[in-house]
Amino acid sequence: MKIIMLGAPGAGKGTQAKQIADKYGIPHISTGDIFRANLKQGTELGKKAKEYMDQGLLVPDELTCDLVMDRIGQEDCKNGFVLDGFPRTIPQAEALDKALANINEKMDYAVDVDVPDENIVNRMSGRRACINCGATYHIVSIPTKVEGICDRCGEKVVLRDDDQPETVKKRLNVYHEQTQPLIDYYKKQDILRTVDGTQPMEQVFGAIVEILGA
Ligand code: AMP
Repeated sequence: MKIIMLGAPGAGKGTQAKQIADKYGIPHISTGDIFRANLKQGTELGKKAKEYMDQGLLVPDELTCDLVMDRIGQEDCKNGFVLDGFPRTIPQAEALDKALANINEKMDYAVDVDVPDENIVNRMSGRRACINCGATYHIVSIPTKVEGICDRCGEKVVLRDDDQPETVKKRLNVYHEQTQPLIDYYKKQDILRTVDGTQPMEQVFGAIVEILGA
């Protein structure tokens, strides 16, 4: 099964994508995670991506598309994958469709986790990420077992630069301008499914499983 997760930054699509990956045994591909891993390793790609990420802007399509096409061509993706944070622009969506069409494949579902803007800014201010392994938490809905310390690796968890309130507002604007048009794009392909992302996380997941099938 090949799934795209759509939704504003902070809508909870990453958390849902991880659960989908676990349940259906398919890889979770997050472009944000890939950029952050590159940043941590100090690669050229990481350095270039940081310039955009820190400002709440999108990394240019030419840096993003090849990376994803390489990843989905790998062996572990042959039974499907869940894309989280990609595509984020119409050209990215077209590049994805084209790459899949070349191998006679297409996406199965685009799941939009719908959350109004006013909820997003509040949610993001509670988000915390580990400075070492990148695991993400939320001070209310997914707290760490020990305050300020990552459950997974024991390092500090912090509010990421790109989750700072001013950057969040900018990311939301970018979302509305560049990513929201994908809703119509996938509606036209008849693969768009919308879930109410304001519900508790387990209910959002339940709604997604109903769409994808048990
Ligand atoms: P995320 O963790 O998905 O919110 O991504 C964090 C940041 O990485 C975004 O604000 C963008 O700067 C960058 N990014 C992630 N995915 C993409 C993409 N598909 N296209 C362009 N930039 C991206």
